[in-house]
Amino acid sequence: MENKDLTLVVNTLKEHGYKLTSPRKQIVEYMISTHSHPTAEMIHREVKNLPVSTIYNTLEILIKLHLVIEIDNKNDDKTHYDYFGTPHYHVVCTNCGKIVDAEQFDFSKLPESAEKETGYQVTGVSIEVFGLCPDCQKLKDK
Ligand SMILES: [Zn+2]
Ligand SMILES: [Zn+2]
Repeated sequence: MENKDLTLVVNTLKEHGYKLTSPRKQIVEYMISTHSHPTAEMIHREVKNLPVSTIYNTLEILIKLHLVIEIDNKNDDKTHYDYFGTPHYHVVCTNCGKIVDAEQFDFSKLPESAEKETGYQVTGVSIEVFGLCPDCQKLKDK
């Protein structure tokens, strides 16, 4: 469990007047620990004994606070969710839709330069890079 992430989420929730109820904590801990970019159904399966409505409500709060982002996966047409307390970008396989995280990229100047260029007030950053994953490359070579 990455403790600094949990602290970040707890503090951000508190700052915005949200309580860290036990179900919310379970969902937050799962989102921090997983790197599988789960759908709501997957979260429901992994985090036991929580109603789907609680999962959606909690995700909605976390998205509003920019702690979780939504990813549309064109391969299964489902919305996937991803903990985004630590900025990173996604490399997506165009064949099987598998999404992996990559972090070796400097995000720090991106929001500022986007604001300068467009006048938008930037509230979040998301980058996707596309390609063929190693498994799909192997299949293609056969
Ligand atoms: Zn693939
Ligand atoms: Zn991710």
